[in-house]
Amino acid sequence: MREEDRRSPFSALATPRSAPRNLSRRTLAISAGRPEPAPDAPLNSPAVFASTYHAGGPVAYGRDGNPTWTALEDVLGTLEGGTAVAFASGMAAIDAVLQLVPVGGVVVLPSDGFGGTRALLANAQEGRWRARFVDIADTETVIAQFADAALLWIESPTNPKLDIAEIAVLAAAAHAHGLLVAVDNTYATPLAQRPLSLGADLVVHSVTKLLAGHSDVVLGAIVASEVSGLCGQLRRHRSMAGAVPGPMDAYLALRGIRTLPLRLERGEANAAILAERLAAHPQVERVRYPGLPDDPWHERASAQMETFGNMVAFEIGGGAAAAEALARSTRLVVHATSLGGIETTIERRARWPGEDAVAPSLLRLSVGCEDVEDLWTDLEHALKIAAAAAAAPDQVNVELDGPSPSDIPATNDLGIHEHETDTP
Ligand code: PLP
Repeated sequence: MREEDRRSPFSALATPRSAPRNLSRRTLAISAGRPEPAPDAPLNSPAVFASTYHAGGPVAYGRDGNPTWTALEDVLGTLEGGTAVAFASGMAAIDAVLQLVPVGGVVVLPSDGFGGTRALLANAQEGRWRARFVDIADTETVIAQFADAALLWIESPTNPKLDIAEIAVLAAAAHAHGLLVAVDNTYATPLAQRPLSLGADLVVHSVTKLLAGHSDVVLGAIVASEVSGLCGQLRRHRSMAGAVPGPMDAYLALRGIRTLPLRLERGEANAAILAERLAAHPQVERVRYPGLPDDPWHERASAQMETFGNMVAFEIGGGAAAAEALARSTRLVVHATSLGGIETTIERRARWPGEDAVAPSLLRLSVGCEDVEDLWTDLEHALKIAAAAAAAPDQVNVELDGPSPSDIPATNDLGIHEHETDTP
C-alpha cells in the first residue's frame, strides 16, 4: 500500500490479529477480531471511547475510525469473505449503497422486501433514483428489468414473505448488463449464506438483528471485496455523512456475534419444528419457511443456503383481526417488531403503512432460543384466541394500525378485552 493511502482515514485500517481463514465460520465467529495475545492483554477487543487520537496515525478522528469498529469489521468481513465497513444502522448501510448509484440511476429491487429500503427510495428527492420493483423470485422477469439499470438490490430470503432469489444467476446476468449487485443478507447471516461467493458485489446487514442478537443495539454494515475499490468509497461516505457506529454499540454487536453460531443453530432448529407444527394446524392457512420440504423455494434455498434461518411467516384464518388477536395474546412470544433477538417475537406485518402487498393475516415469527415446547404451547394457546376472534370479531377490540403496547388493554384467556385502559 502506498504511504499516502496508508495514512488516509479511508484506507483499510490496521486490523486486529485475524484468525486463520481456513477455520469453520462457526469457529471464526468466536476467534476472529481478537487483540494480539500479550501478557495481561485482554482477550476481547475493549470498547474504545475516543473522539480524537494522538496525531501521526492513520485514523486521527473518531468519525473516521475506531478500534472497536475495526474488531467488529474484522469478524464480519471474515465471516462474509470480504472487508466490512460498519455503519450506525442497517438503514445507514442501505443508504451508503444507494449513494453509489448515480443521480437518476435505476435501482431494481424486490416488491416484497424490507419496507425501509422502499421508503428510502420513495422519500428521496424527485429524480435521485428510479425504482423498478420486481418479484425477486421470478428470475426471468428480474433480468428483463436490467436494461439501463445501475443497481440490483436483492433480498433473499425476503422480509417478510421468505421468497428466495437465485442469487448466482441474477448476479451473473446483472454483471453482464453492468449493474452493481447488493444483497441484504440480514435474514440469513453469513453462517447460512454468503452472497459474495455467489457473485454479489456488496452484502448489507442490519447488524441490529441476528448478528448482534439481543435486541439492545442498532447497527449496520456492508461487506465487499477490498480489491473492488468499493470499501474505500463506503468509508469515505461514512466519514462524510457521519452515520458512524458508537463504540459501545460496536462492542455489544461484537459480543453478540460470538454466540451467533449457537443462537442461530437453536433458532433454526426451533423454527423448523414450529413451521412443521403450524403447517399441520387447522387454523393456519399457509406457512412459509424455506426449510419445509414443500416450500415453493425449498430446492432453490437448499442450493444456495447452508441452513434455512430462524424466520417463519404464516397466515391464519379470520383475516387481520384474528392475526392481530394472536399477536397480542401470546404470553411468552413477544409482540414486537424487529427480528433476530434471542427471544422469539411476532408481529402482523400488514399493520405497518407501506406493507399493503403483505397478506393482512401474515404473521412474521422470529424464532429465538427458548424451549420449543414452551413456544408451541404459547402459540397453540394464541391460535385458540385467534379462532375465537375470528368467530366473534365484534367482541374483540383490535386496532389495525399498530398501537403501542401500552395502548393494549388486558385480555382474558380468549383474548377478548375485559376493559379499556387509559394507561399512557
Ligand atoms: N434490512 C432488513 C432485512 C431489515 O429487516 C431491517 C430492519 O428491520 C433493515 C435492513 C434496517 O436495519 P436497521 O433497523 O438496523 O436500520
